[in-house]
Amino acid sequence: MTQSPFRTAFRLPFAIILLTAFGSAADVAYTISLESPPEHLVQVQILLPPGPATRDLQLPVWNALYQIRDFAQFINWIRAKDRAGHPLEIRALNNSRWQLDSASEGAIVEYQIFVDSFGPFGAQLNAHHGFLNLAQILMYPVDSRNRPMTVRFSQVPPEWQVATPLPSNSGAYDADNYDRLVDSPVELGDFHESDFDEAGGHFRVVIDADPADYDANEIIANLHKITAAASSWMNDRPFQYYTFFFHFPRGPAGGGMEHAYSTAIEINAETIRRTLFPLNSVTAHEFFHLWNVKRIRPQSLEPIDYTKENMTRALWFSEGVTSTAEEIIQLRAGLMDEKQFLSRLSEQISELENRPAHLSQSAENSSLGAWLEGFDYYRRPDRSISYYNKGELLGFMLDLAIRDASHGRASLRELFQWMNANYAKKERYFDDSNGVREAAEAVSHADLGWFFTRYVAATDEIPWNDFLRYVGLHVERASVSVSDPGFIASRNFDGPVSVIAVTPGGEADKAGLQVGDIVTEIQGKPAGDESNQELSRMQPGDTISVKVRSRGPDREMRWKITARQEISYQVSDLGQVTPDQRARRIAWLKGETESPGAPTP
Ligand SMILES: [Zn+2]
Repeated sequence: MTQSPFRTAFRLPFAIILLTAFGSAADVAYTISLESPPEHLVQVQILLPPGPATRDLQLPVWNALYQIRDFAQFINWIRAKDRAGHPLEIRALNNSRWQLDSASEGAIVEYQIFVDSFGPFGAQLNAHHGFLNLAQILMYPVDSRNRPMTVRFSQVPPEWQVATPLPSNSGAYDADNYDRLVDSPVELGDFHESDFDEAGGHFRVVIDADPADYDANEIIANLHKITAAASSWMNDRPFQYYTFFFHFPRGPAGGGMEHAYSTAIEINAETIRRTLFPLNSVTAHEFFHLWNVKRIRPQSLEPIDYTKENMTRALWFSEGVTSTAEEIIQLRAGLMDEKQFLSRLSEQISELENRPAHLSQSAENSSLGAWLEGFDYYRRPDRSISYYNKGELLGFMLDLAIRDASHGRASLRELFQWMNANYAKKERYFDDSNGVREAAEAVSHADLGWFFTRYVAATDEIPWNDFLRYVGLHVERASVSVSDPGFIASRNFDGPVSVIAVTPGGEADKAGLQVGDIVTEIQGKPAGDESNQELSRMQPGDTISVKVRSRGPDREMRWKITARQEISYQVSDLGQVTPDQRARRIAWLKGETESPGAPTP
């Protein structure tokens, strides 16, 4: 992942329900009725096939984001009846699980749920459109989670279309089981749609945005390059159809969310008008996830436990090294050059090194900490690091370590292809960091235990120059003066921007800013992911204007930006770059090996 009026009678005629529900033997059949888009209300009907008399129904407490979101908070009411229409008692076992009896002949469960959480990982229905992460709204029968399921939509406004990667069959969409069903987002609305073919696959592009904000041809030209570069790098295309969902809102946006056969991406419209660079980055990242995390999958995430946190130490690899691949794909696709790449690598190193917690939290523990990211304190730079940030850097360093150990015959490409062949294609899950080490050692024919012990499981400082020398690079440290607003604000995915630290005695402190304040505006613009760019453009001496909400009335504060010293890490050429180092760097930047005869997985 890397952040509209209508109303008619709800129910289909009962006779039709009986035919669809009990005509197709074992399927669990869902009907999602868009009851009232302006009020964000959906009614769900679940037709349970015959089975055990006592049935449990579970609504996930999390999905997509590695965070507990307790979707059951939005259920307004629930009821059940048997197939003849007689009411059945349904009782809550806890806040997310219900139970009914006398259901051996099948049953019908209905509930109303409020859906208004935005973002590519959310479920939202309004007068403009619907975008549904189905795990947020569909309960699953605990005894039938692995059975085939169908979903149909009703009360869809006549001018709306439906887009989902699920195959459709006479008005219903089919899934082999619940996991597949909820890994398939649904867009409902009046959207732009186009398609293209690349690398033997068929791609569908669904864009929900103001046509004035984007050029579909330009976006599709880049999608061609990204999908071709990634497929050739993996030498694989494990799908026939793949769908891109894009939202370009004119306000805060939520990034991207990966799925096995699709991705949903949300980028601010102003950003898209300025440059497609962030869109390309998120797209390369989410597309690569179709391998790394969706198919090359850590054991700790399986089977998915929708009732509580799925603790995993592997996000440094599943997310972070996906960010490594995101850079390599853009380089291969010609969407980024060496200079841009080295500048981004320098930023990533500076970010990690300037976060005090890099000395106290390992990449594995940062992966476990994903479930704490909803808490403001946890996101402080002295408390946690980012598994995206350190994981991406570990990906590049591991790539260099494999190249060095294998004398240029293997690389990160061979590691991923090996994991694809030995795990994904065999429908096995890998043993978190041990599984990555196994792959790295298999392709390099060398002991790489030291890498995992020191830099993945522990917090040893990464000796950048020892790794970068192989490609004729080194890191130069420089003390630089950077502008300092006197506070740190941070945002948890779709959550508000909140103040997580204030420099004691600093200008923000003197102006009255407090930890816990919710920042609503910076420089007159709504606060969101884009605010950091706004702040980074400000110079010492500039006046910052911040609007906040807290327990008291909204406040607007102004103060002067000051300066502070920070160590910046610049990746640059060694004094003398040998022809060998230059050749290795060219191969590294393409994600290819420099010697022929690379071992095949
Ligand atoms: Zn991701």
